[in-house]
Amino acid sequence: MDPAKPELSFEVFPPSSPAGTAKLTQTLAQLKGIAPSFVSVTCSNHQLNYEQSTISLAQAVHRDLRCATMVHMPAAYVTKAQVRQILDQLEAAHIQQVLALRGDLDGAAPETDFTHASDLVRFIKRVKPQFRVTGACYPEVHPDSPDRVADIRNLKAKVDAGCDQLITQLFYDNAQFYRFREACAIAGITVPILAGIMPITNRQQALHVVQNCAASLPPKFKAILDKYRDNPVTLREAGLAYAVDQIVDLVTHDVAGIHLYTLNQAATAQHIYDNTASLFAPVTVAD
Ligand code: FAD
Repeated sequence: MDPAKPELSFEVFPPSSPAGTAKLTQTLAQLKGIAPSFVSVTCSNHQLNYEQSTISLAQAVHRDLRCATMVHMPAAYVTKAQVRQILDQLEAAHIQQVLALRGDLDGAAPETDFTHASDLVRFIKRVKPQFRVTGACYPEVHPDSPDRVADIRNLKAKVDAGCDQLITQLFYDNAQFYRFREACAIAGITVPILAGIMPITNRQQALHVVQNCAASLPPKFKAILDKYRDNPVTLREAGLAYAVDQIVDLVTHDVAGIHLYTLNQAATAQHIYDNTASLFAPVTVAD
């Protein structure tokens, strides 16, 4: 890999319907041509069988794309015994990357062996020191945190527990990311921070994102949503152009990597790649 260039990676999620499976198949075929630095596979507390959804998709991604694969693991929904067994299973499949999360909680936190994501990070590093462990972070502050100071203090503890890198929650205002990165540096957080980018391709999705991820929309972006409210084709084009512009700015400002939330949309992943490919380090695919 070219050390002067950042990495481009992608997130996919396990489908929950036959239509979703068809979309995912198309997306994986597209990603195969792109050769990402890694692909991450999300988990959901609604998909109760974590192993049959996330783990088996991760194994398929690794086998079919022959690229580094990262498994999202929800601390709130797994026991220590399960984690040990899953890590063994992953290692046997040559997967050695985990995004250690607390997981989204529906109401009260379940009884579990882990309270915070940092507990899971520490446990994985103790059981499998050779695994690369990533943590989540929030340029606009995690919604449960009273303020930025507390959030960064907790993030520093998570990194000290063993995170090799961080991936951000999605954001649309790069200034928020630059402020956050500076605050991390001041707090002594020195691991690479990959920027999570989710291109907006329709108005419904934009409203959902703002509501659920507490991401602020800059005026330039709001104007696109308003102007093309009744023109979905143009809104999609403008949303993709906005994401490309955001990525170019981040790479220009030395971001460590871009993690693209694909939402299993093959055309979105391809469009972003086609318009930014030369910004990123090329990846060699194993035979
Ligand atoms: P933590 O790091 O545990 O932080 C959660 C909150 O607790 C924060 O407010 C933090 O400041 C606070 N905290 C942390 N440690 C302490 C401490 N020691 N004392 C007091 N407070 C503390 N969710 C899913 O369900 N599935 C996914 O696949 C998924 N993928 C994600 C990918 C990325 C890149 C990101 C950014 C988020 C993802 N999430 C996913 C969402 C995530 O699970 C939620 O945001 C969850 O609410 C917090 O997870 P965390 O790992 O950041 O938790």
